[in-house]
Amino acid sequence: MEIKVAEHCGFCYGVKRAVALAQKAATDRVQGATLGPLIHNPQLIAELASNGIACKDSLEQFAPGETVIFRSHGEGPETYAQAEKQGLTILDATCPNVRLAQQKAAQAAADGYFPVIVGEKNHPEVKSILKWAGKNAICVECIKDISYVPRRERYGVIIQTTFELQKFNDILQALQEQRPGEYRVERTICLATAQRQQAAVKLAAESDAVIVIGGRNSANTRHLFELVQQHCRQAYHIETASELSSDMLRGCNKIGITAGASTPDRLIKEAILVMENMDFESMLNESMEVEVYPGKVVTGTVIQLDKDGVYVSFGY
Ligand code: SF4
Repeated sequence: MEIKVAEHCGFCYGVKRAVALAQKAATDRVQGATLGPLIHNPQLIAELASNGIACKDSLEQFAPGETVIFRSHGEGPETYAQAEKQGLTILDATCPNVRLAQQKAAQAAADGYFPVIVGEKNHPEVKSILKWAGKNAICVECIKDISYVPRRERYGVIIQTTFELQKFNDILQALQEQRPGEYRVERTICLATAQRQQAAVKLAAESDAVIVIGGRNSANTRHLFELVQQHCRQAYHIETASELSSDMLRGCNKIGITAGASTPDRLIKEAILVMENMDFESMLNESMEVEVYPGKVVTGTVIQLDKDGVYVSFGY
């Protein structure tokens, strides 16, 4: 079995920065929490919480003097004002690319363009961009939504940084046809996302099966999975290596691995390790018969040890 990891996958620059900031706060024993989950990865959120940086849902849950960590998706201007009013210290992990999209949206509105944000309505990043774009701004998630866009002379279009490029191009073309006018298009899609998507497609095309690792609540992981499915018949989305089984990969020689921008390296390494052991296991099964049953005493080797558990290989 050949296992190949996509050229670009896992933590992007913005996520790395946000996680480093939160981990430093934990090390410095800062009294604080993140406002909403720092990134879309439940395993990392649990790890941070166990190190003292929990996740709170609203500013009302913070006591005066505490530190609030804003996540990489960014916040609207009123959240900054509210935090200051409550006497909170702000640790701002907003990704610089998201900050740029927020600024472009605010500028478009200030220059008299009607702001149209192309992205997922419920994504926190899109919500934050909409807030900077002012109360008239509208979000368009699919071509159908264009019917809600009012007719104006000038439109300022901003993209959610993690939106799929092809989907955006289709929406933009339909928008310009259905709402003719002057357009200022800010291509704020993030290079990290495009690179991950291109690498995933390339890998899918040359693999018998592809494993996409990442939180099920992560938009960019779900996009990767959708793309991979279009190019490889056997595609699986998992959060951790514990979801892998040899049945999933039976008969596959070339296995591709990719991961969303909020997936820690540790989870990718664990998946590789588990698959390598599966390969070893199938070779062993072919050459010898091993009888294993509950209660049997076996001799094994500890091959990995971390906070979540221990991997023991006993050649089965
Ligand atoms: S995907 Fe891009 S925009 Fe989003 S956090 Fe990562 S680097 Fe920033």
